[in-house]
Amino acid sequence: MTVSGLATQYGFQSFPHFTQGRDKTVNKIVIHHMATTDYNSVPGIWNSREASAHYGIGQNGEIRSYVDEDNTAWHAGNWDANSSSIGIEHANLTGAPDYDIAQATIDASAKLVADIAQRYGFGRVVPYQNLFPHSSFTSTACPGKLKDKLQEIADKANDIIAGGNGNVATQPAQTSQPVQQEDNRSASIKEFQDKWNNRWAIRGNFTIRTCEKQYDMFQVLTDDLNVEPNSWYYNGIPTGLLEDVSDPEGRSFEDGATVRFKDGVNSGVIAAYDNNSNAVGIYFAGYRDMIWFDADKFLAHP
Ligand SMILES: [Zn+2]
Repeated sequence: MTVSGLATQYGFQSFPHFTQGRDKTVNKIVIHHMATTDYNSVPGIWNSREASAHYGIGQNGEIRSYVDEDNTAWHAGNWDANSSSIGIEHANLTGAPDYDIAQATIDASAKLVADIAQRYGFGRVVPYQNLFPHSSFTSTACPGKLKDKLQEIADKANDIIAGGNGNVATQPAQTSQPVQQEDNRSASIKEFQDKWNNRWAIRGNFTIRTCEKQYDMFQVLTDDLNVEPNSWYYNGIPTGLLEDVSDPEGRSFEDGATVRFKDGVNSGVIAAYDNNSNAVGIYFAGYRDMIWFDADKFLAHP
């Protein structure tokens, strides 16, 4: 006979619905919930119901043994699974529809799982490899909320197997506590996004550093707006967007000239942000490539 040293016998094999012996070697544990808060109703209910399990854990963490591990309990709804598994029932803390499970029940379950895993040489306890919910073997709502606790039970069991006390931190489910994303935006990008709804406007003058024909068009670079370091490819402003206010004809674009964006292209919506370089990307109608500007300069410029 094999019974865990963590368990006390309770109504032990006092019901007819289990099978003497086993067809297979034990290589897995199947987790159930009782779907009742009445811990003491088990195993008496198995006198009439054609079911059974090896163990049951109460709301306070008590572990009861109902069937010898060397015998086959009827819990998985699947003969193959019954033959090769040990079934553990868990009493519920609340009834329908939530069927909550007490933390003490989960912690005791981890201890029992660790004990079984060690005695049968499972190695590490891994959900869906050697620790299964009842629902893996038959269509059932069992084990209710315990289905989402398999990893916690496994983590704690593995800690116990490794010599710990099972008090390992368990990651909260992402659905209930979304991880706070770190805000790495600069103050300027935040202001563009949160205050100005991604809109920009630059109607004031700025000074060009240099003007060259690059990529088949005349472009300027300006220290007043460009991100540093800058390049003709990413940061050049086509002269077609600008008016040279130093030149009565508005189009000589000498180095050091004072210029402004033409009416019609001096405001718009920011198309992209780059937090790493603190830059804002602007598309101008008629020009294929985005032009990147320093977010601080772009925000501050009149
Ligand atoms: Zn079940």
